[in-house]
Amino acid sequence: MGERIYLDNAATTKVSEEVLQEMLPYFRETYANPSAIYSFAGEAKKAVGIARERAAALVGAKPNEIYFTAGGSESDNWAIRSVAEGLSDRGRHIITTKIEHHAVLHTCKYLEKNGYEVTYLDVDGEGKVSPEALEKAIRPDTILISVMAANNEIGTIQPIAKIGEMARERGILFHTDAVQAYGHIPLHVEEMHVDLLSASGHKLYGPKGAGILYIRENVRLLPLIHGGAQERGRRAGTLNVPGIVGFGKAAALAGETMRERAEKETALRDYLIDRVLAEIPYTRLNGHRQDRLSNNAHFCFRFIEGESLLILLDQQGICGSSGSACTSGALDPSHVLLAIGLPHEIAHGSLRLTLSAENTREELNRTVEALKEIVGRLRDMSPLYEDAVKGGEIEKCTAKK
Ligand SMILES: *Cc1c(COP(=O)(O)O)cnc(C)c1O
Repeated sequence: MGERIYLDNAATTKVSEEVLQEMLPYFRETYANPSAIYSFAGEAKKAVGIARERAAALVGAKPNEIYFTAGGSESDNWAIRSVAEGLSDRGRHIITTKIEHHAVLHTCKYLEKNGYEVTYLDVDGEGKVSPEALEKAIRPDTILISVMAANNEIGTIQPIAKIGEMARERGILFHTDAVQAYGHIPLHVEEMHVDLLSASGHKLYGPKGAGILYIRENVRLLPLIHGGAQERGRRAGTLNVPGIVGFGKAAALAGETMRERAEKETALRDYLIDRVLAEIPYTRLNGHRQDRLSNNAHFCFRFIEGESLLILLDQQGICGSSGSACTSGALDPSHVLLAIGLPHEIAHGSLRLTLSAENTREELNRTVEALKEIVGRLRDMSPLYEDAVKGGEIEKCTAKK
């Protein structure tokens, strides 16, 4: 096995050196509880304040609108559950989409069991939500719209500004799961009329277990975690100072490097996509061709199982994903791929490769060569492929498309 090639940056990223160095003193030197009175605690408190400013600046928010959480899942749960509970007198209808992360979908399912109604919007073949369909779904009792900024599987970027505008005009709160978008594409909570926004440190070269929920200033949201008075009484628990500091540094770096990073990633991504589509027949790209995250490539290879592909790639040191961590081991194909209209047998052959700006062309060349060889081998063993060849449906894969 050669050097490991890590192409699963949508699942998590490596903590950057600068982030790590900034975090380290807060474990053993400046370890005081920032809520304490003595001046030693003041240093930790100050560091948290800087992190809050940095986290806010990245999306045009005010520091007092940022609440530190233990990650994206917590932020999603908090936003949706608390709006639902807090506004249940006004209405019990929520609108979201079929392609959200499970942190959103399963929270909505939980609410459905507790007397709420949820509309799950369809998306088109490229994974886009239609603002017109959203408009039709809005009811007098709609209290929340939750649409992700960018999809974690297929990378499609949603028309968040348009959706925010529609929600604001109608006085409906708008939450966006921006875990894949925050620090990767430009976002502005004021311009996009976002009321609540979730983000997570470990998706942008920061630490795991550290996230934020942005809550617009005059939105009143019930706490999810009851206890001490931390985070203005809205999110109890001793602050995770190293995590928060790391989040802040990651946000600051992400802001500084966003454009350059996106350019590098886009060039790598398009090189990968073009080669895979040109050199491996019966392959499709999933997601929107242009409006997609700069680091996301997502394919379906016909006649093979994504799981087998991942295992064989792993044997060559290549880390990819079938799309969502939650589907691994399960027989059901991804809800996102079904939502864009793929039949089960095609959805099963999926592969998500998500880059970082540190990846190299050389790594992608090795990945494409490995893919060609493995996909060919799996197809040669595939009864589906055999049938398709015999039935004259396709020519043998080794022949050009
Ligand atoms: C990773 C992810 C989450 C969950 O974030 P955690 O910090 O891992 O809890 C939520 N939504 C999206 C879109 C994600 O990609």
